[in-house]
Amino acid sequence: MAELQPRKPSFSSRLAHALRPKKSTNRLRKKSAVDPSIKEITPPPTPNAYGKRLQHGAIYRPTNQDNTDEQTGERRDDTDLLHGLAHHESDDSLDEVVNLTRADLEAWRPPGEPIIASLPSALWELIASYLSLSDVASLAFSSKVLAVRLGPGPWMALEQPENLNERNNFLHRLDQHLPAHLLCFDCGTYHLRTQLGQEKLRPTLVFNPLYNCPSVAKAGYVPPRIRLTPGNTLPYTFVQLVFRAIKHSPNHGIALASLCRRWKDPDSEWTHQTRYYIYKGHLLMRVVSQSFAAPKLPPSGERHLLYSREDYTPYFSCCAHWRDGELMNICKCALAHIPEHRQGITQQLKQGPQIQMALRNVNPIVTLCSFCRPMRRCPDCPTEYLVELKLAEDKLDPVVKFKQVITVTRWSDLGDGSSPYTSEWSSVKGEGEYHSFNMMGKRAISGIFEAQSGVTMPGQRLLSLNPKNVKQGEEGHDWY
Ligand SMILES: [Zn+2]
Ligand SMILES: [Zn+2]
Ligand SMILES: [Zn+2]
Repeated sequence: MAELQPRKPSFSSRLAHALRPKKSTNRLRKKSAVDPSIKEITPPPTPNAYGKRLQHGAIYRPTNQDNTDEQTGERRDDTDLLHGLAHHESDDSLDEVVNLTRADLEAWRPPGEPIIASLPSALWELIASYLSLSDVASLAFSSKVLAVRLGPGPWMALEQPENLNERNNFLHRLDQHLPAHLLCFDCGTYHLRTQLGQEKLRPTLVFNPLYNCPSVAKAGYVPPRIRLTPGNTLPYTFVQLVFRAIKHSPNHGIALASLCRRWKDPDSEWTHQTRYYIYKGHLLMRVVSQSFAAPKLPPSGERHLLYSREDYTPYFSCCAHWRDGELMNICKCALAHIPEHRQGITQQLKQGPQIQMALRNVNPIVTLCSFCRPMRRCPDCPTEYLVELKLAEDKLDPVVKFKQVITVTRWSDLGDGSSPYTSEWSSVKGEGEYHSFNMMGKRAISGIFEAQSGVTMPGQRLLSLNPKNVKQGEEGHDWY
């Protein structure tokens, strides 16, 4: 053999080696040709091969044959191969066939009208008497026979202005079939979307109707919306479009991400960033509002920083209950923790002869106190707040580059978007009753929201924003 030779094999011998027939083919050829001499030297079969019983469920594997493939090292088991071809109780593919047949049956099943018609009208009227008006109208809408049995009464009742809610309930069920329209809850009508697919959030002052609605002309009409910051709102129509896109198809609405925005307040240093997230069918919102804050602000300076001069509401995002409770006091307490700017000795000497050594090394990391540090939850709506101080670079200030920034983060649950009257949506606007500590339990909205991006909220105490539960609104004295 070539490989046994000690010296380097010549080219011709290597070529011969490469072209020589494979061992495996050799063996196969030997086996196929019946050679009595080889038959004699075959080793005697192991006792397992015959005579001994196989264990129940064990697979028979002949041990006296070497089925190992020389190239891959795989052992070919003919028994396994045969068993593999059999059907082994897995009905996956069969299930599909069965489901398909069921769906087909559903489509081809005989009409049920004769069965419905065979029941007396009185029975259908009795059934209808247990249902709400919108349900009866839907039942009458489902088939001709039922429309005749129940009469036009339910639909005529939906026309009455006092039944607007029921009318909206009935119309909402047709949502899937009207991608180019949007249900207006004020009119109880589907209006045609005038900016189909191009709907974009704009500041409140920009006239941005998504449909032509006659209600807009009514005096004092305010479309359903939630205040985000001064001059910025989240109209309900956008929430409606987001849920339609998720429930039905992208053509029915807009993507959730298109709601996310980042903007700067034109009258102050506040910047805002909104993000949204759908959790268990509810729309969760986070608004992060931040502004540079100077140290040692007098009360007037604090107000100047926190309140919009236009309507004396906070610059940052908050729910309708911000006047009651501690929200503003928490912000003012956090502002009081801002240390003075770091000043070198020469800088200090420029201002006067006195030198404060503490000002040379100011700790930039501020720890808030037990009053302003904890997360707060509004007891009257599903909203949570966190006030923080962070060090940030002010690129516009040539003297003091690094300053403290006050950050107010607000998380709100805006409900399931089914109507602008859900308890979450209404309570965030300050309408209706909502007991957030009873309704939401221990799981915080902030925790759920941050967990989606893999951020674990540090173990925070969740306190009530209004621990004394005093509700005075504008009449109270603490809010300003
Ligand atoms: Zn309308
Ligand atoms: Zn504090
Ligand atoms: Zn609230």
